[in-house]
Amino acid sequence: MSQPVFRFAPSPNGHLHLGHAYSALLNQKLAKEAGGKLLLRIEDIDIQRCTPELEAQMLHDLEWIGFEWDETPRRQSEHFEDYREGIEKLEKLDLIYPSFLSRGEIKKIIATKTHQGEHWPRDPDGTPHYPETERELHQHQRAELIASSSNYSLRLDTQKAKNLVGKQLSWIEASNEKTINVPADPLLWGDVIFARKDFPVSYHLCCTMDDALQGVTQVVRGKDLYEATSMHILLYSESLKI
Ligand code: GLU
Repeated sequence: MSQPVFRFAPSPNGHLHLGHAYSALLNQKLAKEAGGKLLLRIEDIDIQRCTPELEAQMLHDLEWIGFEWDETPRRQSEHFEDYREGIEKLEKLDLIYPSFLSRGEIKKIIATKTHQGEHWPRDPDGTPHYPETERELHQHQRAELIASSSNYSLRLDTQKAKNLVGKQLSWIEASNEKTINVPADPLLWGDVIFARKDFPVSYHLCCTMDDALQGVTQVVRGKDLYEATSMHILLYSESLKI
């Protein structure tokens, strides 16, 4: 087997906290034990909240706790072009659609459906799924709406992406007790946003593209991101080729 590659990928939108420190040192311990490589990736696509000062402080604190990484850290804010290309690849596969509903409109649709007795799904973070009404709009309707809209988001048609992959995806989850195969369920997330006017890319996209690009083989991170793996495994799939 080739050398395992681990990564620690904090977002410097605040100070290093205990969860970060634990995750960083656990990655380091596991990488050492496995004879693997350990990378540091700065996930700073939110350029409003991730400041150079916070990043410098975070690097300083990481060094202070004894975290050592191989290679120059990758800083996501330097690669917006690459992520944009990733979105374009998905657009070519017709897996991305523009969405225009306002928060109020979404709320209204959900309230009506719920009133009619329909169960409305929520994603693992508790956010209601986006209504699927705009998935099948024709190109000319999309163009008209884009021309007349001051704001819209690009979303992944998750069902279509899953259909394109066409097989059950899974990942290997290892803990102290056991190693199990976990089936990925990307539909849990509904049609996630990949780009917004004020925010050109999204965490799911950048994180997955970088893990692939950097040859990451082991992802060790907080339980809060456990369910995100389902979406990442979908994006990682060969059929999507981002
Ligand atoms: N940047 C993310 C965070 O700080 C973590 C990303 C990951 O480990 O996949 O929450």
